Amino acid sequence: MGDYSVKKIVQLYTRDLERVNWDKYVWNRLTIPKHRIFVWLTMHNRLQTTSRLHKMAIATNANCLICDDAVETQEHLMFECKFSFVVFSSIRKWCGLPNNHTTVNAILRWIARSKKNKFQKHMLFAIVGAMIYHIWCTRNDVFWNHRVVAIHNIINHIQKDVIGRMYRVMPKKTDIGGKEWLRNLANQVCI
Ligand SMILES: [Zn+2]
Repeated sequence: MGDYSVKKIVQLYTRDLERVNWDKYVWNRLTIPKHRIFVWLTMHNRLQTTSRLHKMAIATNANCLICDDAVETQEHLMFECKFSFVVFSSIRKWCGLPNNHTTVNAILRWIARSKKNKFQKHMLFAIVGAMIYHIWCTRNDVFWNHRVVAIHNIINHIQKDVIGRMYRVMPKKTDIGGKEWLRNLANQVCI
């Protein structure tokens, strides 16, 4: 990509947006690589939702592909949709995230400012990344295959993806508290 680097593209996109330390949030090693771009797009409200495609006259209506009950904005798809609401609630309960946030940026900011240690913060970033990715895939699955995957399967996928990643790339210097926290989360996941 030469001089027109990813960094410059990101600067272009983020010029007028809230300044967030996105690289630390998104590109930490524990976040699954294929999830990272979706976290970044969501942080900058750039997912190609149906409402956005409708505005560009690409989609015939603006409704949510999953529930068909409301306009598919990013906020709806990730937080307000009855499907994602259940997914987020279960995952939040599982890993201890608070349930009073309504944007991805607010969740990431809460994690960054929390008193948790570095390993726990990075794992929570990875969990948020997995939630975004799987909800977006669910929405695309409806578009391409006309089916909504069962909620408990999505929750299980998110948990298994993150736990698998943690055990593969967990830093050697992770302290006992971090390892115990991970083991406790892993024990709650159906294999
Ligand atoms: Zn919906």
